[in-house]
Amino acid sequence: MFDPNCIFCNIVEGEIPSTKVYEDDMCLAFRDINPLAPTHVLVIPKTHIESCAELTEEHEALIGHIFTVIAKIARDLGLDNGFRVVSNAGLEAGQTVPHLHFHILAGRPMSAKMV
Ligand code: AMP
Ligand code: ZN
Repeated sequence: MFDPNCIFCNIVEGEIPSTKVYEDDMCLAFRDINPLAPTHVLVIPKTHIESCAELTEEHEALIGHIFTVIAKIARDLGLDNGFRVVSNAGLEAGQTVPHLHFHILAGRPMSAKMV
């Protein structure tokens, strides 16, 4: 599903530019426009899902695939010293873009870091 009012749907469609890191028929990964770590990549499903709070059994293959892609991106970017994966859901988590996304953060110690 495509939501014309959604920033990330528009990135999927190429209507808003992004620095792509990875793409296939199910998901897209691109650099965060306001990086909070030396490496900050967002991985999103191409279909519009508001957040991980909306997930149901029908999404299990998609989410499993996204995590396989996250591991591939981490290898390709050489994140050998570790990385963090974060997905914010809803107001109190500070979610600002209501299209499911997984932050990949790396490049400095983040033991107490919140995204
Ligand atoms: P969250 O706060 O978890 O909803 O994260 C949304 C993230 O999207 C933030 O880290 C923003 O910097 C990032 N963001 C917003 N607009 C864009 C854009 N056009 N291109 C890349 N990243 C974006
Ligand atoms: Zn969307």
